Amino acid sequence: MNIIEQMHKELENNDALELAKKHSIDYISQINDRNVYPTKQALDNLSFFDEDLPSQPADNLQLLNDLHQYGSPASVAQTGGRYFGLVNGGMIPVSLAVSWLVSTWDQNVPLHVTSPINAKLESVCEKWLQQVLGLPSDTVAGFVSGSSMAIFCGLAAARYRLYQNLNWDINSKGFAGAPKIRIIASKHAHGTVLKAIALLGLGTDNIEWLDVDTQGRAIASSLPELDQSCLVILQAGNVNSGSFDPFEIICQKAKLAGAWVHIDGAFGLWAAASKQLAHLTKGMDGANSWSVDGHKTLNTPYDNGILLCRDKEALTHALHAAGSYIVYGNERDGMLYTPEMSRRARAVELWAVMKYLGSNGISELIDNLHCRTKQFANELKGAGFKILNDIVFNQIIIEVGDEDIRDRFLKHIQQSGECWVGGSQWFDKPVIRISVCSWVTTDEDVSRSVNAFVDAMKYVKSALK
Ligand SMILES: *Cc1c(COP(=O)(O)O)cnc(C)c1O
Repeated sequence: MNIIEQMHKELENNDALELAKKHSIDYISQINDRNVYPTKQALDNLSFFDEDLPSQPADNLQLLNDLHQYGSPASVAQTGGRYFGLVNGGMIPVSLAVSWLVSTWDQNVPLHVTSPINAKLESVCEKWLQQVLGLPSDTVAGFVSGSSMAIFCGLAAARYRLYQNLNWDINSKGFAGAPKIRIIASKHAHGTVLKAIALLGLGTDNIEWLDVDTQGRAIASSLPELDQSCLVILQAGNVNSGSFDPFEIICQKAKLAGAWVHIDGAFGLWAAASKQLAHLTKGMDGANSWSVDGHKTLNTPYDNGILLCRDKEALTHALHAAGSYIVYGNERDGMLYTPEMSRRARAVELWAVMKYLGSNGISELIDNLHCRTKQFANELKGAGFKILNDIVFNQIIIEVGDEDIRDRFLKHIQQSGECWVGGSQWFDKPVIRISVCSWVTTDEDVSRSVNAFVDAMKYVKSALK
């Protein structure tokens, strides 16, 4: 039997899908009992995958069995309750099921004509995002892989508009002989903001920096005089402390000057959807563009980033592509709002999560993350740990000692398998950072993780004696 015949046969029976389902359920059922980080054994077993590309087709069921046997244990338990690295959401259960169905559709979604269902749900999500985040009703949305790309799109739209303000068409003329636009960003801007500035040819050396206060918030009084050549980049949710910049005053000044404000709200923009925490984002609706992730605070599957922009013309001109076979219609063509052409139907998972939770459920989800974070900080404090930040959202910064102590501490806690936290730098201090971002995390998970911190401290202290 040749490979084509074999694949036709596999489509007729559903053995592989049934087996994938069985392994998935097995994975889910064990997630809270296993080591959060793969064991040494699991990592050693990855050598199973070292082979030359086989010449002969594999057995599909054997392939799935191998992947589950050697792959699943070497995954990091990010869908469990005790992973606190990066800013990492878990997954709302229905969105996993929806993700299976969407994978079955395998839609390519650049245009309405290539996937009416995705185009419809992108439009619905756009409206819902305006409502739940309290954004102006002329805000349009682009559905991209994550905040890195969403920030890039926001800044690309800004670049287009600001150059238009200076009577320069950046798309056709490029930078040779161009006037200058100015970039103003906080000293605590996320690394992906700097990357987008570099990718867009704006040059990180040209940034005029805003000073930050002890919580990492931009200080409004350090804002330079603005004009219509200025791009101001703020953040909702400092990646270490979780703090929010003072949007109201800066957006007002920018608006008066004709400047563009982009807000990087990868995880923090969702505070706007919480009844309890919306005050943190006060005035953020005065910006021109925003970037946010579904895959962090909202707990959609990866990859799910969103660019929101009030200037549809600038965004679509910045990202426009043409080709004889690209037929734009009168309905929503998603590729006008994204840098990519071919894309997966990621808006369907976003739609499913928002539909499932509803605005009350989203608010509850976010409040619960905040509540677990406060519990975590309180219990750590009770155990003698030094917390360096105000707990405003879902982030905790802990000082345990100099770099050597911090590194030993981290290594011990990561190897314990009990939970996973990472390191960072907070001003001049090496620190440990905790991000509580998964709906799965329970109060028991938090207490168990605090115990792991206490053990790690004992270990480090005794090792230093
Ligand atoms: C995570 C994060 C980003 C990057 O988002 P990705 O989805 O990983 O591309 C940007 N800014 C902030 C504040 C973040 O937390």
